[in-house]
Amino acid sequence: MPAHIIDGKTFAASVRGKVAKHVSQLREIHMTKPGLAVVLVGEDPASQVYVRSKGKQTVEVGMKSIEHKLDASTSEKVLLALIEKLNTDTEIHGILVQLPLPKHLDEDMIINSIDPAKDVDGFHISNVGLLGTGQKSMVPCTPLGCLMMLRDYHGSLSGMDAVVIGRSNIVGKPMAQLLLGDSCTVTLAHSRTKNLPEVIQRADIVVAAVGRPQMVIGDWIKPGATVIDVGINRIEKAGGGTRLVGDADFASCSSVAGAITPVPGGVGPMTIACLLANTVTACYRINGLEEPGEFTA
Ligand code: NDP
Repeated sequence: MPAHIIDGKTFAASVRGKVAKHVSQLREIHMTKPGLAVVLVGEDPASQVYVRSKGKQTVEVGMKSIEHKLDASTSEKVLLALIEKLNTDTEIHGILVQLPLPKHLDEDMIINSIDPAKDVDGFHISNVGLLGTGQKSMVPCTPLGCLMMLRDYHGSLSGMDAVVIGRSNIVGKPMAQLLLGDSCTVTLAHSRTKNLPEVIQRADIVVAAVGRPQMVIGDWIKPGATVIDVGINRIEKAGGGTRLVGDADFASCSSVAGAITPVPGGVGPMTIACLLANTVTACYRINGLEEPGEFTA
């Protein structure tokens, strides 16, 4: 039987709908409007597309959206001063500095200058530590979106074997922490992992976050397993032009897996939806209000 397709586009639209309801409650009952500030340094075309899309969706759910577009030559001093201003701005509850930053800027230092309570990307070292120790934190958007989809499809993940392929700070590591938090038995694989196909064969859940087009093939997948494909790779089409594919080979994996996320239309749309959800969560917390449990890990 072909795998169930986990439709990230529809799921993300439902998350945005819930976010919009919370935004109107915050505005009508608590007299506060969640605000998200996005800072873009330089003219990276992919980053410009992301930032535009984030701004549009932020406004659509009723939140305040501000964008700061800075020149590629912006100094650390100027960028830090802007972040400090946003940290103290009472109308801003979420701050996102679009990565990657130009080479002359120290990414870690810049991210760690954001108020952890407004760090809606969840990359600040305090939030990383809180997540790692199972405490309330801001959770990185892409892994949070993956977790929401897994919970929605499976209900409880307790006791499941999960393999995360890729150990980056923004996807792989936090994903592994989240699955551990939901009582999965987690293996975190990477480029030095031996016998990767055998490791993956054991998994009830496979999360592929590698950045290698169609690397994970159906023969590696345990029949009935759930495949969450984080990868976004552009490849040449046979007849010319390009198309997007994931890190899993959709055709072969979907004939073995029980469920799979497509690329595009799987994990991708959930990332921005979770950014909006994190901004709502931050707004509740900053105002000392009880937060909605539905968006948190
Ligand atoms: P990174 O390049 O930071 O990390 C890639 C990871 O994959 C590394 O840990 C690396 O291992 C591992 N890896 C590389 N080759 C292999 C291999 N042959 N076998 C096993 N592991 C391997 O990537 P990101 O985590 O930033 O992104 C991963 C993918 O997810 C990309 O395609 C990216 O575009 C996509 N992405 C999608 C998002 C979305 O919204 N859908 C958001 C963020 C990313 P090692 O550490 O040993 O080098």
